[in-house]
Amino acid sequence: MENTRSKKMSALSLEDRLGAINRLRQPVWVYDFDNATVAWSNQGALELWQSDSLAALQARDLKSDMTETVSKRLRQYQTDFLRDETIQFREIWTLYPNGQPSTVEVVFGALWLDDGRMGMICEALPEAQFDNEALRSSEALLHTSVMITLYSAEGIPLYRNPAARSAARNFAETLQDHFACEESMQLLQSSEEEEVNTVASVHTSDGKRWHDITARRCHDAVSGDSAWLISEVDVSRLKATEERAQFLAEHDTLTGLPNRNYVSMVFKSHIEQIQAKGGKGALIFIDLDHFKDINDSLGHDAGDTLLIKVASRLKSLALGNDNVARLGGDEFLLLLGPINSGSDARKVAREVKKQLSKPFTLQGRKVRVTPSIGISVFPADGRNINDLMRHADLAMYHSKDNGRNDFSFFTKELSEAVESRINLESELMVALHEGQFVTYFQPRVDVQTNTITGAEALVRWIHPDRGLVSPAAFIPACEASGLIGTLGKFVLSQSVMAQKEWAKQGHNVRVSVNLSPLQFGEDSLVNDLLSIVKDNGGHPENLELEITESVLLGHDQGTIDKLHALVDSGFRIAIDDFGTGYSNLAYLHRYPIRCLKIDRSFISQLDTAQPIVELIVSMARLFKLDVVAEGVETQEQLQALRNYDCQEYQGFLFERPIDFNSFTALLNQHEESVAA
Ligand code: C2E
Ligand code: CA
Ligand code: CA
Repeated sequence: MENTRSKKMSALSLEDRLGAINRLRQPVWVYDFDNATVAWSNQGALELWQSDSLAALQARDLKSDMTETVSKRLRQYQTDFLRDETIQFREIWTLYPNGQPSTVEVVFGALWLDDGRMGMICEALPEAQFDNEALRSSEALLHTSVMITLYSAEGIPLYRNPAARSAARNFAETLQDHFACEESMQLLQSSEEEEVNTVASVHTSDGKRWHDITARRCHDAVSGDSAWLISEVDVSRLKATEERAQFLAEHDTLTGLPNRNYVSMVFKSHIEQIQAKGGKGALIFIDLDHFKDINDSLGHDAGDTLLIKVASRLKSLALGNDNVARLGGDEFLLLLGPINSGSDARKVAREVKKQLSKPFTLQGRKVRVTPSIGISVFPADGRNINDLMRHADLAMYHSKDNGRNDFSFFTKELSEAVESRINLESELMVALHEGQFVTYFQPRVDVQTNTITGAEALVRWIHPDRGLVSPAAFIPACEASGLIGTLGKFVLSQSVMAQKEWAKQGHNVRVSVNLSPLQFGEDSLVNDLLSIVKDNGGHPENLELEITESVLLGHDQGTIDKLHALVDSGFRIAIDDFGTGYSNLAYLHRYPIRCLKIDRSFISQLDTAQPIVELIVSMARLFKLDVVAEGVETQEQLQALRNYDCQEYQGFLFERPIDFNSFTALLNQHEESVAA
């Protein structure tokens, strides 16, 4: 009760101070908040309270008849008076002196009790007529937790209900001062509507809170002047939950950085704002090189720790609030702006590279990562977030292609290259569907006897406009888009069907089919190939699969197992373009290989490459491998191969790759000439 006690103890008692009031007929009494009793009353009030004597009234415990809301509200009055003892309230009260309701309009004011505590002097106004409606609404106004305030049009407070009084920092606080930000007041003033609803941050006796506010234009019943009736509900908790949910939706839980959602909302509008003022900016796209290796070798926890550390280094670049985002995985995005020119972005990119290239400590060891960075500048490289991100991403990939750990700016050429690749990819998809691919065959020939020993299947694209397109122009795009698997299966099935047709005509032709490294990597490779061969009525024994040296590079057990599985299924394996890769001849015995195809480049430069070709041929004989020389165009080359004792060759000298019918004709004609 200490806070209700004033320092100034009155020299005069209530009786002395209020004796004169005794003579008034108007009921006046003094209420003791702390004890919930009447401390003093005049004759009129004794009658109102239906008490025979002052002593009897003073002895009455009012708490027993009082609801929780009323006692709370009374405590509020006490606080109000302690803050400002000059204020008065005028309210319609219903008293229950002996259980019977009696309604009076009462004016309340502060009054210090004899012992220095804050009490309340209450004066019942001359009898007024109250209709039930008015009574109930005023009761509601007093009891409700909704804060209701009437302000003049200028924002001066005219009336506050108890809830509003309790929330106000001081009684004189204007509507303008009530709002924590100017925009809310502007919103009210600028609105044409009779009623405005908004959730705003406001000042209260509890500090800053969020209130759901309904402001109604009305007239002050007393003066008739226009006024604001403001009702407010505290929605801070709701708002906090909402904000937390919003935060979670827009931030990455691992690093706490803004996420992709945030980028598409907030970065987007920052970019628009900068451009609206005629400014420039940049997006910097960062991807960590070989992050997967760290995850794989040190575990995901270490990977997570690394991402957190990377995030904090990027944040420490201090580019401004929330201008660093994590897009997912090991991808980060910085927004710069406004900047003077692209060279500002270059400086930042250099700094990013420097910061991230310093070693990180993970699980007690030093780990190094490098970033690949791509930059797009606006408005030059695009005006909207989507274009800018796509372009920065493209530039980042360009950095990766250029050997990583570097940054690149977006250029028109980059996007043109991508555009034509995308066009090509979609054209290829159509080509597969519409049967624009055809398998050609090039004969493989015995060096000594010049008889056909087999054929290599080589795919061709018969483009409706461009005519015959060479595989060099579309195989890389097929690999990039993942179409290579489907294309490879198509070529294999065509080869098996051709073989069957030739067999019917009495020709046993072994066909070699090229396998892209990407195709070789597919888990289902062995089963897929086997079922295609079987479905088309062929035999794996009549097929050879050509793989490149790059497939063998890893020397890993998975590759060896897969090769063995293919061989066990009956396929023969050949190494294509032999000599151009890194394979060490001495390692060849590790793999179940049957044939080496010497790359065309050695044959076309036989004068200088002669020792290499001789070496390959003799090594192959040692390991009991077949050898095929590719790209033989002249009689001199063929003669040289005879001298080295090379077994087979392929080349324009004998025949170019030709279509099925031509190859069939060649087989028949060839047989005749051999027979003749
Ligand atoms: P490759 O496997 O090395 O095929 C041999 C290439 O040499 C063929 O080119 C062939 O036409 C060419 N060639 C043959 N003899 C001569 C000659 O005497 N002189 C010259 N200058 N060239 C000769 P093509 O058909 O343009 O194929 C290029 C590459 O495309 C192939 O090289 C192969 O890597 C790939 N490819 C072709 N078809 C397929 C396929 O069905 N699947 C896969 N994965 N790749 C294929
Ligand atoms: Ca080949
Ligand atoms: Ca080749």
